[in-house]
Amino acid sequence: MGKRRPPEILRKSHAHVERKERAEAKAALKRKLGDELVATQERGLLIDLDGVVYAGNEPIAGAADAIAWLVDRQVPRLFLTNTTSIPRAAIARKLAGFGVLIRESEILTPPIAARRWLENNVDGSVALFVPDVTRSEFEGLTLARTGEPVAAVVVGDYGERWTFSALNHAFRLLMSEPRPVLVALGMTRYWQAPDGLRLDTAPFVTALAYASGVEPIVLGKPAPAFFAAALEELALEPGRAWMVGDDIRVDVKGAQDAGLRGVLVRTGKFRSGDLGLGIEPAVTLGSIAELPDWWMTVSSA
Ligand SMILES: [Mg+2]
Repeated sequence: MGKRRPPEILRKSHAHVERKERAEAKAALKRKLGDELVATQERGLLIDLDGVVYAGNEPIAGAADAIAWLVDRQVPRLFLTNTTSIPRAAIARKLAGFGVLIRESEILTPPIAARRWLENNVDGSVALFVPDVTRSEFEGLTLARTGEPVAAVVVGDYGERWTFSALNHAFRLLMSEPRPVLVALGMTRYWQAPDGLRLDTAPFVTALAYASGVEPIVLGKPAPAFFAAALEELALEPGRAWMVGDDIRVDVKGAQDAGLRGVLVRTGKFRSGDLGLGIEPAVTLGSIAELPDWWMTVSSA
C-alpha cells in the first residue's frame, strides 16, 4: 500500500469513471473469451461499515488506505450497514470526514435494499412505517393514501410514532385482501439511546407478524435477502463473494448462510470468545488494514 495518495479530486473522478471502465473491460473480455469464463473470474467484497471501517466517531486505523487501494484496483465492492437512522448521503459524509472516500452508490442500507426489492417484487402502493429521515430513500415508489388497500407494509424504526392506533393501522392493512407483504428494515431488537435502551424495529415487526400471520421479509444483515440484494447489485455469484465484518454471527455466519464466505476482523465488537462459537470464518484479519495483502492472495489464487 503506497503512502502517497492522489489528491481527493483525482480519486473522486477516478472512482466516478471506474464502474464504466470495469464494464467496458468486462465486455471486451467477454467478446474475447465468452460469457462463462468471465463470470467465473469476477470476485468481490461486501464490507461492513460499523466496527470495520469506523468505530463510533473514530475511523479504524488503516481503513482509508485499504479502501483507496480497493478503489485503485477496481475491486468490485459494496459497503453494507444495518443503519436506518441516517441516509446514505450522511453516511458518505461521515466517512469522508475520516478520509474514507466511499460514494453513496457504494453503500447498501436496509431502506435501499427494501426499495429495490419492492420495485422488483411488488405491484401496487406501499405503506411506510419508517422515520421521516428514511422516507426519502423510498422516492419513486407509489405511497399509499389513507383508506386505500396496499401491496406492502414497510416497517422500520418508527420510534415514538408507534402509538396503538399506528400499530393497529399497520395490522389492519396486513389483514386486508389480497394480503400485502410485510417488509422489515432489519430485525434489531433494541438500541442504546442517550437516555437508555429503546425498542427498535424487531419487536413491532414481530407483533404485526404474530397478529396477522404474515411472515416478514427482512432486509438487513443477517437475512439472506439482504446479502442477495448486495450480490445482485454487484452481479456476483455468492461463491465469488467475501463478506468482511466484525460480528461473527451477523456478518460471518449470515454471509455463510447466504452462500458467501465470511471474513472476520478483530476490531469493533469482536471479542476473542467469538472464535469459540463454532463459526469458522474463511479468514480472520487483525483489521481492515490487512485487507489488501489478503486480497492479493485471493485474487491471484
Ligand atoms: Mg459491524
